Amino acid sequence: GFCSSTGLYCSKWGSPLLPQTPHLSLPSFLLSQISSKALDKPAFIDSKSCKSITYGELRSLTSSLAHVFHSLGIKKGDIVLVVVPNSLYYPLLVLGVMSLGAIFSTANPLHTRPELQSQIQDTNPNLIITTPEQRSKLDDRQSTRSIILVDDLMDTLLQYPRHHKTLGTEINQDDIAALMYSSGTTGKSKSVVCLHRNFIAMSCFLRHVWESEDGAFDDIYLCVLPLFHMFGLSMFVCGTLAVQSTTVVLNKYSLEDMLVSVEKYKVTRLPVVPPMVVQLVRLQDGVKGYDLGSVKEVICSGAPLGKVHMEKFSKCYPQMRLSQCYGLTETCGPITLCNGFSGMVHESIGGYFGDPNATSLAINKEGWLHTGDLCFIDKLGLVYIVDRIKELIKYKAYQVAPAELEEILLIHPDINEVAVIPYPDEAAGEIPMACVVKRGMSEVEEEDIISFVATKVAPYKKIRKVVFVDSIPRSASGKILRRHLRAKALTTQQPL
Ligand code: AMP
Repeated sequence: GFCSSTGLYCSKWGSPLLPQTPHLSLPSFLLSQISSKALDKPAFIDSKSCKSITYGELRSLTSSLAHVFHSLGIKKGDIVLVVVPNSLYYPLLVLGVMSLGAIFSTANPLHTRPELQSQIQDTNPNLIITTPEQRSKLDDRQSTRSIILVDDLMDTLLQYPRHHKTLGTEINQDDIAALMYSSGTTGKSKSVVCLHRNFIAMSCFLRHVWESEDGAFDDIYLCVLPLFHMFGLSMFVCGTLAVQSTTVVLNKYSLEDMLVSVEKYKVTRLPVVPPMVVQLVRLQDGVKGYDLGSVKEVICSGAPLGKVHMEKFSKCYPQMRLSQCYGLTETCGPITLCNGFSGMVHESIGGYFGDPNATSLAINKEGWLHTGDLCFIDKLGLVYIVDRIKELIKYKAYQVAPAELEEILLIHPDINEVAVIPYPDEAAGEIPMACVVKRGMSEVEEEDIISFVATKVAPYKKIRKVVFVDSIPRSASGKILRRHLRAKALTTQQPL
């Protein structure tokens, strides 16, 4: 099971640490507090090339980038979709878009053409920033929109005269800052509305927690998390910039590159997802050649981390503290943090973009967000995640929405009915498994179904196991009884 403590329950809603001024954007909040001693210090370093952006440069480049966007016709309220992998410039793109009052929207660069198209249809972006590899996934209909390659944008930016004045756009804390994709408790992926207020509150929360320890300013973080996901974005834009520490950015995760970078840059804090902790435990001998002595803390979130792995990790790496956070895209990042310090949670959440039905399902009339997780809080205020009630599958902490896969599977001529559920897997946490009712006398096999889906979805969404069943259990209202199927799948290896 995945019953593990994720942290102290943070109950100080409406913390006095939150700035009260209504006219404030995340970039102006973060950039205006850069201290003079941080100006020449790297905010971000590229792990391979060692190229860096100092805090001073981050401030002036953000302002120039806002001017570049302005010259491209982007204005307050416009949506800018960013489909690029992690890079030194990613956080700059976030700040540049938001400082103009435009809305930063992210997509996983692994998305296939139809997945990207569907997200584009949902959000209708005014500008798409991408790479040549991703560009080929945008069809002709998209060419009527503005598309710019990230390298061209950066070339333009670097030639642009430095502006230290902002454009003067009035941005309120309640304006939308970002749209992030999540399937929430049910159905297909939706765009989560994140306000400047949410991100500012997350910055205050993380600063409060991290500064309760000495040396936050001198910390070196390693970014191995995808920045298009809320965990990465909240850590490396809201958090590390608020304490003015340095982040080394890895363009693509591999265990070896992570270890090389830890040693090379003397990384002190390492935010990871559970499969990385499992890898570190499994390959304990493999990491012996690397000096990991600088790492004080490994911060794990994004999916459940089993107690067994936590214990093994602490045995293998006694000098590293293993902290856990719990959060959702919908909460704009972590809301509990188990490192022995209590913190504050932001007071406001957005909702789903252009989807009032999904929003009212997720947030009830009293303003409570349904996380879709089954938790309890013990006497010490520690939160334990016992189970996930919502449909969501977490493959290596990536979100997989069963409804999306079911829609694809139902196109298959040999499939009559289908339900996709999580199946436990040690390395990935969970894998998507399809429970299939065949059509008539069809002789379709597991491999056919796996490859049928594999061509249509990003690799992390692939169906990795298929069982054939006689029927799909449903409630009186026709809803798939997923928990029933999950329980059955766990107790039998035979066809359900
Ligand atoms: P996402 O919106 O992709 O960040 O996914 C949020 C979901 O991930 C939560 O609702 C949980 O189901 C799961 N999750 C995140 N952190 C943890 C954790 N520390 N322990 C257990 N589940 C987690």
